[in-house]
Amino acid sequence: METRRKLEILADAAKYDASCASGGSRRKATPGGLGATEGMGICHSFTPDGRCVSLLKILLTNICIYDCRYCTSRISSDVERARFSVAEVVQLTLDFYRGNYIEGLFLSSGVIKSPDYTMEQLIAVARTLREQHAFGGYIHLKSAPGVAAELLTEAGLWADRLSVNVELPTPADLAQLAPEKSMTAIEESMGVIASAKAAANSPQSYAPAGQSTQIIVGASPATDADILITSDHLYRSYQLRRVYYAAFSPISHADPRLPGAAPPLVREHRLYQADWLVRFYGFQVGELVSSAMPDLDPAIDPKLAWALSHREFFPVDVNRAPREALLRVPGLGRDTVHKILNARRHHALRRADLAQLRVAKRAAPFLVTSDDARTAARVLDGQALRRQLTPPVQLGLFEARVSAVRGEI
Ligand code: SF4
Repeated sequence: METRRKLEILADAAKYDASCASGGSRRKATPGGLGATEGMGICHSFTPDGRCVSLLKILLTNICIYDCRYCTSRISSDVERARFSVAEVVQLTLDFYRGNYIEGLFLSSGVIKSPDYTMEQLIAVARTLREQHAFGGYIHLKSAPGVAAELLTEAGLWADRLSVNVELPTPADLAQLAPEKSMTAIEESMGVIASAKAAANSPQSYAPAGQSTQIIVGASPATDADILITSDHLYRSYQLRRVYYAAFSPISHADPRLPGAAPPLVREHRLYQADWLVRFYGFQVGELVSSAMPDLDPAIDPKLAWALSHREFFPVDVNRAPREALLRVPGLGRDTVHKILNARRHHALRRADLAQLRVAKRAAPFLVTSDDARTAARVLDGQALRRQLTPPVQLGLFEARVSAVRGEI
């Protein structure tokens, strides 16, 4: 099979992994034109500091001995199969890199003979790039669960980031839809990576970009609470940099236990927002979802939902409240809170100062300034507040994807 055809198959099969999210643009090359954004495995991903990088995102092979029901590469799927050799992936990466198309490689794979054999192949790609070609670009390797500890330990010496996908949020979901995988094996692999990173001589010497994982949303009846409880546990236990939430994509010849339609994209977006609130805004998962309300409100963001059901917490005094309280105000991001804390050192903040600090208008009902305490309290008591603050139009697909992957709130 020609390399180009392999690339088409193996880049397409890799698109289901959200841990390297595409910008979503699909512009075809035109005769006589220059450039195209379509296909061929180049995707855009965002670094923790918000920089956008282009990655060659491919599978080594879509041949797989496992039968995860939600996956087009599963053994029982009738898709066309292809496999790159180690040398082919190395050459493609070098060619794309030298052509200035990419800044790095995202490499995943179906399980070829065993998780260990597959990981050896991925390591060979990364090691060859680093040792023989002095490749200094970004490398993200995806591991199957259950890979031997020594292989995961070696992989982190060559790769910037490692990831083991949890895929489904509960052990019961895994038993149903990914019978060869188990939460125990997934967590053991994550534990090995976390331990190797902790034991490394320096943060740069082992998987400097840390580890991440992906949870598929909407492939099982799991609630948002199930998903957020699992991701919170994984963040705390294995020092994950990111959990990516990927809306389930219906596939052909699907197992009847899978839903026939993708969940609304807004669900994925709300999960990213809740995830961000837990990691950076001081919220507990139990404040955002509960057994009585197991799913996030799709109509409004989770911080606003919390604020509307905890009106006794507001209004927050913009001149006196601690940082933790300001972070709970809908519309106040971390940067804005930082600006408020700096500005109020110099003088008492009035309503007009908030506009100068570019505080979002939707924060207004939840704040009091030195000149409007009574008005704010009255507005907050109003019954129509939720209606006033609910965005009239849902996020578009592209906007939601980009902001979700960047982690904006
Ligand atoms: S192990 Fe990976 S490639 Fe194989 S069926 Fe499962 S999800 Fe697909």
